[in-house]
Amino acid sequence: MDFAIPTHILAIMDRLEDHGYEAWAVGGCIRDSILGVSVHDWDLCTNALPQETAQVFCDHRLVLAGQKHGTTGVVTEHGVVEITTFRSEGDYTDNRHPGWVRFESHIEADLARRDFTVNAMAYRPRCGLADPFGGQSDLKNQILRTVGQPEARFQEDGLRILRGVRFAARFGLTPEPKTLQAMCDLAPLLALQARERVFSELCGYLPHAKVQDLLLFAPVLGEAVPALKPLYGFLQHNPHHIYDVYTHTAHVVEGVPPTLPLRWAALLHDIGKPQTFTLDQEGIGHFKNHAYVGSKMAWEILTELHAPTALREEVRNLVAFHSLTRDMARYPQDKPIRRVLRRLGETTLRNLIALDRADDGGKGTCSDPAPFDRFEEHLNQILAQHPCLTISDLALGGKELMAAGIPQGPILRKLLHRLLAEVGDGILENDPQILCSRALALWKEIEPCTNQNK
Ligand code: ATP
Ligand code: MG
Repeated sequence: MDFAIPTHILAIMDRLEDHGYEAWAVGGCIRDSILGVSVHDWDLCTNALPQETAQVFCDHRLVLAGQKHGTTGVVTEHGVVEITTFRSEGDYTDNRHPGWVRFESHIEADLARRDFTVNAMAYRPRCGLADPFGGQSDLKNQILRTVGQPEARFQEDGLRILRGVRFAARFGLTPEPKTLQAMCDLAPLLALQARERVFSELCGYLPHAKVQDLLLFAPVLGEAVPALKPLYGFLQHNPHHIYDVYTHTAHVVEGVPPTLPLRWAALLHDIGKPQTFTLDQEGIGHFKNHAYVGSKMAWEILTELHAPTALREEVRNLVAFHSLTRDMARYPQDKPIRRVLRRLGETTLRNLIALDRADDGGKGTCSDPAPFDRFEEHLNQILAQHPCLTISDLALGGKELMAAGIPQGPILRKLLHRLLAEVGDGILENDPQILCSRALALWKEIEPCTNQNK
């Protein structure tokens, strides 16, 4: 097995070895090397104590913040390389953190604390591969297996359950039966984990998610995002849908491109359905306003998970407006497309088309991508004309309107938006003089109303 360890990492390992210590590359970098995928982090471990490691690299800048837990960061021109003293951990009283950490002198003790066999391998150039738990054969057979008893390992740290989902999806691994059973049985432990860590694991998982693992790990995902639970088995009572809401959702998640806004929006797009369900006299199910209700729920779910604002806003918009482009795609027309473009912007509109495509394709009945293709073509034509999409695209701004006598304040903004709407709809030419006289005329029209309202 050839581990293509970069030279600056090898130099650090050699230096430790030359001082009489063992130096091992460990964890994800070994797993990824065996799989032949690119390695993004080379983590090292050693039998040198943290202060000994610091001594060996005393001519380097060091990051010492993690020394209590055994980690020394050595600053190189290629970034910080982390070297951690072999350690074991125990006494996880809160299902999250070890009560104690002990430094060890053998690599096997360090590998035993790691979560999954595929992550519990290490390589030492002078010695070879250390693989006491059969990680290499599990990788070959595409099996996800905990190091040690799965219940005990998940009880120690509940987040490992979600890490397992992420690794399984990312590397196409199937959990062995006991590991799967424990993941599902102990999934309620996820409620005890910090929400930002749950969010970060879900963000690592979603781009790799496939129908198969969304269904297999449904009990886990339902504990990570409890609002998903009512979707399980929820029948749609609609001849166009052969799947329950959750299975349909799984198809939509796999069907959208693997970006975070789209994967999150796909996961949450029908979250408002159970709450809005009604059955008509013909026995057909309806979900009036489910997009609006769902968008509010999506916002709350992502807020609770401490998601960044930009992601929350994009997902909220995508959930709120899903189906819009499907409806518009039947008869794509210039004006409505321009309006949606102004309202949502190009990126969101393109995301919306991708979501609606996947939504349509995920019903399990015959779907036709042609209307979406036509819609996209129409959109491309509109964009090629460099249309006015925001007030900053107008040929005149607030400054010019103020110079023409219009006072600063809400009226100014209102007028600019009216001008934008008219230019965008093609009613008005984007010319400074034309815009100015139109603004003055509109001001006269609006002002009496404004005064009345005062
Ligand atoms: P990635 O490519 O996602 O970074 P990784 O395997 O490097 O994958 P990290 O989270 O960077 O994952 O952790 C590095 C290593 O530390 C893991 O390979 C694993 O051996 C160990 N590890 C990390 N988190 C845990 C945990 N919660 N419990 C046990 N071992 C863990
Ligand atoms: Mg890593």
